[in-house]
Amino acid sequence: MSEFELIERYFRQGCQRGNQRKDVLFGIGDDAAILRAPDNNQLVVTTDTLVEGIHFLKQIEPAVLAYKSVAVNLSDLAAMGADPAWLTLALTLPESNEPWLAEFAAGLNQICEYYGIALVGGDTTRGPLTITLTAMGHVPAGQGIYRHGASPGDWIFVTGHLGDSAAGLKILHGDLAASDDHREFLVTRHLRPTPRILAGRSLRGIASACMDISDGLAGDLRHIVKASQVSAHVEITDVPLSSALVETLGLEQAQRVAIAGGEDYELLFTVPEARKGALMTALGEAGVSHTCIGQIRAGEGIHYYRNGEVESDAPTGFQHF
Ligand code: ADP
Ligand code: MG
Repeated sequence: MSEFELIERYFRQGCQRGNQRKDVLFGIGDDAAILRAPDNNQLVVTTDTLVEGIHFLKQIEPAVLAYKSVAVNLSDLAAMGADPAWLTLALTLPESNEPWLAEFAAGLNQICEYYGIALVGGDTTRGPLTITLTAMGHVPAGQGIYRHGASPGDWIFVTGHLGDSAAGLKILHGDLAASDDHREFLVTRHLRPTPRILAGRSLRGIASACMDISDGLAGDLRHIVKASQVSAHVEITDVPLSSALVETLGLEQAQRVAIAGGEDYELLFTVPEARKGALMTALGEAGVSHTCIGQIRAGEGIHYYRNGEVESDAPTGFQHF
C-alpha cells in the first residue's frame, strides 16, 4: 500500500469528522488545511509528541495509544479554557502494518467523534514509532486562562483525584499489586485519562490561573507559582485521593504518589475568594468534582502542611531530564 492509499483509507475516510465540521473549509488532501475560526475568538494551539518506549509501552493497544495521544493534547487546550476543534497528526511508523493502522485510526476516530473534533491533516513518515499531535481550538477573545494570573489570597483547586495514573503505570510495569477491581480502575486512569474540556471552558472568567497536571502536582504547581511570582501553601491531607488508590497503597504512600506522580491530566487552577461561588455553580453544571487543596500567598516556592503543621519531607515531582 502506498503512502497516499494509506492516508486516504485510514485518515481521510477513516476519520469522518473532517467532512462534517463546517469550519473545515478544506481538510486532508491538499498541501495544507484551511479552517475558519469563529468571529471574535482567538486560536489556541498545542503539540505533544509520544515516543515508543518513553511515553508509552511497546505492548500498548493501537486504539488506546490513539486515544491517549489525542486526550493529552485536548487536556492542554482544556487548561487554557479553549474549545477543541481541529487536529493534525504526524505519524512515524516503522512499517506499514495494516491491522495496526486500522485499529489506530478507529481509536482516533472514536475520540474525535466523542469530542466533535476534526482530523484535518498530518504527515506520514517511516522510522521508530512516534506520534506527534497538534490540537487546535479557540477561546472568546481575551478569555484564555494562563499560568501567570494567580494572586495572593486565591484558593488552589484540582479536579478529580490525583495519583491514580501513576499507580496504574506502576501496575503495568509489574511494580505494584492491586485487587482486580482496583487494578482495572487504576490502569484505565493511566491509559484513558479524561481531558477536562467542560471544566476548562467553565473556568473562563472564574479561574485566575490554570494548567493541566501532566508531570505531577508538585512539579506543575511550581510552574504556576513561578509564572505568577507567588507562593503556594498546600494541605497534603486535602489532596483528593480515590478509594482505589488509598486501598492499594495505604494513605501515606497514596498521598506521596498523588503529589509526585504524573499523567493525571486533571486541571490545577486558582480562584479568587470573590469567585468561589461562581466556581461551585460552573463546575457543578459541568459535573466535574473539584477540591480546594490550599492557598496562594505572597513569597515564593511551594510549602506543604499536614493537618496545619509544616511538612518538610514532601515529594518534589517528576522530571523528564
Ligand atoms: P505534502 O507532501 O504536501 O506534505 P503529504 O503527502 O504529506 O503532502 O500529505 C497529503 C495530505 O494528507 C495532506 O493533506 C496531509 O495533511 C494529509 N496527511 C498526511 N499524513 C497524514 C496523517 N497521518 N493523518 C492525517 N492526514 C495526513
Ligand atoms: Mg507531508
